[in-house]
Amino acid sequence: MTQENTQSFRCSNKPTWCPGCGDFGVLAGVERALVEYGRPPHEVAVVAGIGCSSRLPFFMNTYGFHSVHGRGLCVATGLKTARPDLTVIAVGGDGDALAIGGNHFFHTMRRNVDITYILMDNQIYGMTKGQAAPTSALGLQTKSTPHGNPDLPVDPTWVALSCGATYVAQALSTSPKQVCELVLGGLRHRGVAFINVMSPCVTFHPGVNKDTLKAASCELPEGHDVTSRRAALHALIDAEGRYPLGLIYQDPASVPFDERVDATLSSLEKQSRSVESLVASYS
Ligand code: SF4
Repeated sequence: MTQENTQSFRCSNKPTWCPGCGDFGVLAGVERALVEYGRPPHEVAVVAGIGCSSRLPFFMNTYGFHSVHGRGLCVATGLKTARPDLTVIAVGGDGDALAIGGNHFFHTMRRNVDITYILMDNQIYGMTKGQAAPTSALGLQTKSTPHGNPDLPVDPTWVALSCGATYVAQALSTSPKQVCELVLGGLRHRGVAFINVMSPCVTFHPGVNKDTLKAASCELPEGHDVTSRRAALHALIDAEGRYPLGLIYQDPASVPFDERVDATLSSLEKQSRSVESLVASYS
């Protein structure tokens, strides 16, 4: 068996992100997680939407798919359903996931397809040079909100938990080690794993950077029960807008989408057989 290392997952395309972009830390964490997970690159597919963070598959030596804005999760769902043997990772940014792709985010979380989704959250539209995004702070002045953002920011971990996600975690891109641990946990999880990574855009949103994100982050409460959705939601409420880091929730009884489909089909088959025997008993 081949022993993989991070070089095995790195392709000859050098990342084209701006120097200092948080997405470098995410790439490093994902590579390390895949090494520890132990599957070779040709058994892994990374699917992206559109945006700076969605360039990530270009820089990896796995299979990759750069899809349509906001539709990375649809492609990842279709791929995993058609090829359950592959390890499927989806990546994207906050605009891709929560604005144009918001509908798909909602349904992917509740559907529990066995994929790992990494959202690189920089609280801005970076690729289009700095417009307010769904996670931008209230009052933020951007090119699209010169008088201040009038909208409240979306908390992606809250949305994921509320929609039924069975694995929800959060990290800072400045800690590739934590990104690695949480992505590895997601890869091992049976069902959808959502990891929100705060990943600053140093070019178009320098007000959110490694120092401000560190100051705005917090630990989960001592003794936090990761198997309780109620405890997870309470932890988010009690954080009062700060970002709890680590594994927030994991459902130990998670049943992935394909097994739910099998169970539904087998139940329909049984019902159909009992209807047939009922009809036969009257004929
Ligand atoms: Fe990263 Fe921002 Fe540059 Fe895009 S524009 S590569 S998000 S720093």
